[in-house]
Amino acid sequence: MIAYLGRIVHDNDAESKLDDDVSSISKSLDLQGSIENGDVSSLASKDFGGLYSVKPLFLIKPSGAEDISRVVKLASRTSNLTVAARGNGHSINGQAMAEGGLVIDMRSTEKNHFEFLPINGSHYIDVSGGALWEDVLTRCVSRYGYAPRSWTDYLSLTVGGTLSNAGVSGQAFRYGPQTSNVTELEVVTGKGEITVCSETLNSELFFGVLGGLGQFGVITRARIKLQQAPDMVRWIRVVYSEFEEFTRDAEFLVTQKEGESFDYVEGFVFCNNDDPFNGWPSVPLDSGHEFNPTHISQTAGSILYCLEVAFHYRNSDHPTVDTAVNGLLGRLRFVEGLKSQVDVSYTKFLLRVNRAEEQVKANGPGDGPHPWLNLFVSKSDVVNFDRTVFKTMLKDGVGGPMLIYPLLRSKWDDRTSVVLPEGEIFYIVALLRFVPNGPSVEKLVAQNREIVNWCIKVGLDFKLYLPHYQSKGDWERHFGNRWSRFVERKASFDPMAILAPGQNIFRRDPSNIIISREF
Ligand code: FAD
Repeated sequence: MIAYLGRIVHDNDAESKLDDDVSSISKSLDLQGSIENGDVSSLASKDFGGLYSVKPLFLIKPSGAEDISRVVKLASRTSNLTVAARGNGHSINGQAMAEGGLVIDMRSTEKNHFEFLPINGSHYIDVSGGALWEDVLTRCVSRYGYAPRSWTDYLSLTVGGTLSNAGVSGQAFRYGPQTSNVTELEVVTGKGEITVCSETLNSELFFGVLGGLGQFGVITRARIKLQQAPDMVRWIRVVYSEFEEFTRDAEFLVTQKEGESFDYVEGFVFCNNDDPFNGWPSVPLDSGHEFNPTHISQTAGSILYCLEVAFHYRNSDHPTVDTAVNGLLGRLRFVEGLKSQVDVSYTKFLLRVNRAEEQVKANGPGDGPHPWLNLFVSKSDVVNFDRTVFKTMLKDGVGGPMLIYPLLRSKWDDRTSVVLPEGEIFYIVALLRFVPNGPSVEKLVAQNREIVNWCIKVGLDFKLYLPHYQSKGDWERHFGNRWSRFVERKASFDPMAILAPGQNIFRRDPSNIIISREF
């Protein structure tokens, strides 16, 4: 069987033979799930970024952890096969791809686990690594009235995919990222072992996998902390012309105690003009609200800032909501007259970006490439970042949202594989480029590179989020003093460097010695 697969690997352009090969491999592996040829047009060779496309050997749709273990063990018996778990393919730079390798479609396992667990007065849900967060939300709320505490803005992402990065949204200032809201995982390691891990059981694997960029294991089940779901959310946007006032208020809100602040805090940068994607029209929450630019002072610059907050409530709390919200808003220094507010159900609020995506798909010209860039920037450098990047390099916008909001390092667990800037307060910056009719993709990618190079050159305290680097030196710099721990974890849990080759951190070597990639 192994010799047979070796032949396919070295002779994999013999398209006519592949159908037979698929069925033989499927039989020999004794999979409960199914296997398809790795076609360049198949989903395994594409991602949301649309910047890369590579052809895998096979796309595997496993039925669960046993199948995944068999696939990884099979790869380990060859000299060169790699395995990539693919969540929903929402990476930007081919991170879930495997050139000539085996791509595992985690979505086929999405229904394997869904168990509500009340334990010692707290509530948890066990879900599959391949489940979409939108399904976790709707099932948890409709069946149990509970919901995870920490989210991403957009929910058509998989549990395993976001936990392999961090999972950040406007609740993270209070509860930490999604990686801080998991108490147990089931993982298939790079040795093909199915292992349950937690803070106290196989803890090195548990913390390694969280934010581990898929390098140490495939997450097949996660136990997520829940909270009682509110019925409603008051969702508010207010506008600032000065960055210092925007950051002062955002930092004030994220450092207040629970019960003394909003339940969600985010923010974004927009252009001081009437451009439909980048300017004033991107602010109002309701088509009935108008952005009235006469409230903006004549001295304001070409860039403005919007603080986006939300307040959770139960229907029975309704009479007290105005007092609580107005009390909080009264402490902020936004431009008077520039406030937009709506009341929506909790699920509608959490599904807001999914709805926006549907609208774009319905009205837009289709899927273009998305050269997105995400960074964490330390509070100590954020004013410099605003001055150079937002006010200068990106003063005309990026054809989509430019998010910026503060997070607290103490809500992140240092034992996970995520790396952060120094200092308690840091900002997430997300440049979400959408419009296909602007500058060429090459220009946008070059602009991203220019921003990152500038950050490095001036010694900014920053890290890429959802990182993508080309050289070993870049990865070493990214991980800093955590690099040796990352390499040790690789040696322990995926010593043959089989997993997640699309991250370009390690490469599989026939001698079975893991080495960092050199390009
Ligand atoms: P994929 O892109 O398929 O995979 C990502 C990486 O994880 C790959 O290396 C893959 O091999 C690995 N992987 C996938 N599944 C598993 C698994 N079960 N076990 C181990 N490794 C696995 N991120 C945020 O934090 N906050 C946001 O608000 C946010 N919004 C987004 C909105 C959009 C429209 C998009 C496109 C992305 C957004 N992201 C956000 C980024 C998102 O977290 C990443 O794209 C992430 O990779 C999840 O996507 P995915 O589930 O499709 O995983």
